[in-house]
Amino acid sequence: MSEAVGPRVAIIGGGPAGSLLAILLARRGLEPLVIERGAAFTAGPQRGGRSINLALAARGIAALHRAGIDTDVAKLLTPMRGRMRHDLDGQQRLLPYGQQATEQIYSVSRAALNTVLHELAARRHGVEYRFGEQCVGVERDGTPLIETHDGRRRRLAADVVFAADGAGSEVRRALTANGAISSSEELLDHGYKELTLAARDGEFALDPNALHVWPRGGFMLIALPNLDRTFTATLFLPHRGAPSFATVGANTAGAFFEREFPDAVPLLPNLERDYASHPVGQLGTVHCRPWSFANRLLLVGDAAHAIVPFHGQGMNAAFEDCVARGDLVPRHGHDSGYDWPAIFAAFETARAPNARAIAEMALENYREMRDEVRDAQFELKAELAFELERRFPGRFIPRYSMVMFHPEISYAEAQRRGAIQAQILYELTDSTHSVGQVDLTRASALIDARL
Ligand code: FAD
Repeated sequence: MSEAVGPRVAIIGGGPAGSLLAILLARRGLEPLVIERGAAFTAGPQRGGRSINLALAARGIAALHRAGIDTDVAKLLTPMRGRMRHDLDGQQRLLPYGQQATEQIYSVSRAALNTVLHELAARRHGVEYRFGEQCVGVERDGTPLIETHDGRRRRLAADVVFAADGAGSEVRRALTANGAISSSEELLDHGYKELTLAARDGEFALDPNALHVWPRGGFMLIALPNLDRTFTATLFLPHRGAPSFATVGANTAGAFFEREFPDAVPLLPNLERDYASHPVGQLGTVHCRPWSFANRLLLVGDAAHAIVPFHGQGMNAAFEDCVARGDLVPRHGHDSGYDWPAIFAAFETARAPNARAIAEMALENYREMRDEVRDAQFELKAELAFELERRFPGRFIPRYSMVMFHPEISYAEAQRRGAIQAQILYELTDSTHSVGQVDLTRASALIDARL
């Protein structure tokens, strides 16, 4: 094994977190090296067990803005202003995400985003990427081992290493095996499978400015628009029981979709074939403590705190991590001597409560998406939440809006206020059937007393 003369700062993983972090560090005058296991990014499909497209929201956009690249990414985005609920009888109903025109989220292709971030990092900021190289372990002193595409191994002799190698992080696995940190993965008993909803005559077959949801209680189908006028649909289904991925196979998928998602079937011309060939993805929450080791290695993004995707916030949270890092670097020193231990400790203190909060809210949102959006009481509470926001601006903001549209409110604070607001909504709607019947004087008193 050879010992290379290392760069001062290395990043393992050139996904969204790795590339954004590289840009932010380069803007601070550092020269990060990115080690990326995959082949060089192209805008074509990248199948690595992660979703084909994602929802980007205000937190992610704020971080991209801080890196000076939000306008570069804007051309990749399709706005979605609410959830379009598809009932069994084919009826569609839009549940807006927010009340302001700006309160929308954006569908973006993972491959296109990774490609643009890499290009910006490499071309605009001179960041070096080594594709086809992967971290295969971490020595007891915290030095990562890198394997090149020809199978040779070397120690990565960097002063400081950021591990942005995703939910299945090899760095986290190796540190856990060494006893350096403790971590666990809480797997969800539901998995996912992605399918493509075709365009119709070259145009979107469904409203492109919505996130489509077919909520069916124990399971659901969702679909996000792509720039090529298709939608990527994701079926979330339990692994066991009925129906589940164990009972719905390629030969029964047609009948299952006809029964549960009849209006989607005409848009799935190759349903059986695609259902058979596309993998079932695992979902889960990563718990990990601490996030750093040996004063030189820090886990960021999914590597530290992967979550289930039902709030559409995993990447947004990973981007927020990067900005937190960008903020902390100059505060603690100069290029010749950053106080990395202090930076790492401050980072984890600031981010860990927020990672826990969004992990819990993402799990709760699964129940809401697959179940409650079908429920009349859910709609009444959502309507009342908007009414209270209109009447008491700044004092009452629906929790979903705090998470998706208010980066200035931390995830932990959104969760705290959200719990109080949920109780207020419950009390105000307990024996009412419409927003008109709600006692707004009482609402004001409750908000004053509790928020
Ligand atoms: P990753 O995106 O996983 O990137 C890790 C990178 O490291 C990859 O490029 C990988 O090739 C590389 N790598 C891995 N191992 C090694 C190694 N050993 N050596 C070198 N390189 C390595 N988030 C949202 O915000 N909105 C959404 O709508 C959303 N939808 C989702 C839907 C699904 C089905 C799933 C599974 C996730 C979703 N997420 C969403 C979460 C989002 O995908 C992640 O939070 C985000 O990708 C995290 O970015 P990251 O850079 O930390 O990790």
